[in-house]
Amino acid sequence: MIIYDLRCANNHRFEGWFDSGDDLECQLAQGQVACPYCDDICIERVLSPVSIQKKGAATRELESTFQAWRRLCDYVQENFEDVGHNFAREALKVHHGQTEERNIRGVTTEGEEKMLEEEGVPFVKIPMPQQLDS
Ligand SMILES: [Zn+2]
Repeated sequence: MIIYDLRCANNHRFEGWFDSGDDLECQLAQGQVACPYCDDICIERVLSPVSIQKKGAATRELESTFQAWRRLCDYVQENFEDVGHNFAREALKVHHGQTEERNIRGVTTEGEEKMLEEEGVPFVKIPMPQQLDS
């Protein structure tokens, strides 16, 4: 069953339950749908543009977020030195001034992340596309 918003010629709005859009059209054409307020049978379907706009906006938002993420990944890939699994060790060295200060990227285990947090090493986690992890 599908719920449709309907409106009579006197501008009363109500909901009707139908098997399908075809069923709705058929019943409207045959005058089988009457307004519950004034028994008018000149009924038309009210489109709900709000829900359609919402869906479209969500898709666009997702797309622009995805684009931003891809740009971020490209930026990190081009401007950050890949230290792979040595990330935690390198980040600590940079943090303590034991090596040249630079932007690095790599992978960490949960334990390493915890250790970095405890050491007060600033780092940002970004989900990267697969090929960057290899
Ligand atoms: Zn009515």
